[in-house]
Amino acid sequence: MLGIIGGTGLYKLEGLVEERRVAEPTPFGNPSSPITIGKLGATQVAFLARHGLHHEYLPSEINYRANLFALKAAGATELLSVSAVGSLQREYPPGSLVLPNQFIDLTKGIRAPSFFGNGLVGHIATGQPTCARLESRVLAASDDVEIFSKKTYACVEGPRLGTAAETRMLTTLGGNIVGMTNLPEAFLAREAQLCYASLCIVTDYDSGAAEDGAATEVDAILAEYARSINKVQTILRALTAAEPAPAACACRTSLRAAVLTPDERLTAEQRAMMKVLRA
Ligand SMILES: [Zn+2]
Repeated sequence: MLGIIGGTGLYKLEGLVEERRVAEPTPFGNPSSPITIGKLGATQVAFLARHGLHHEYLPSEINYRANLFALKAAGATELLSVSAVGSLQREYPPGSLVLPNQFIDLTKGIRAPSFFGNGLVGHIATGQPTCARLESRVLAASDDVEIFSKKTYACVEGPRLGTAAETRMLTTLGGNIVGMTNLPEAFLAREAQLCYASLCIVTDYDSGAAEDGAATEVDAILAEYARSINKVQTILRALTAAEPAPAACACRTSLRAAVLTPDERLTAEQRAMMKVLRA
């Protein structure tokens, strides 16, 4: 099942034939929204609105663990994240679509970063944090819409947009785009053995990245985003038009050697959680 996490402006999927809704709490609390499960084209899909159905959660307030756990428990095996980002470079103007395959984590420790802890020790590998197999399917579905792939996403805490000095810093660090929501989401997906890819919509030049150095106003950001969301809906319809052929993927066995604590030392609750993560 393909999980889709909708970001700003994407609160429902056009063409989704709803079969059921899941609104159960997880061991980590409530997800941002109920999960809508149904058929999009020929594909079984589970959709969740990252910021809530009425956009009520700041990036720092999103319960990433509950979102990822709920999607996995609902049966998702792969996850496509859609989100808004700022561009750090002139090569990616507003309206561009970007598929980052690397992340720089500049969040500030406010967000719970892991399903592990409290007597359960695990370390997942994140050298290649996204799923190349899912990314190639997204690229194939994009048809004549240009997507910049293999880019680096710098994740900041927000909610404010960056200063000009911060934009220079992120560019120096190797960032191509900047956003506030893909982490720890991508890492939690890896802990849940989910294939993960992130489709980002450039809404604006981050402060100082535009030629004239002027920061983009928030209303201009939102107008550009509304246009781009239509492109994303088109890609999602193409991506789900045919049921993907089953394929083995390393993402689906990421926990094989990751957990160091023996199973018999875990509580019943932790064993139940690991059963979902390992599914
Ligand atoms: Zn994968």
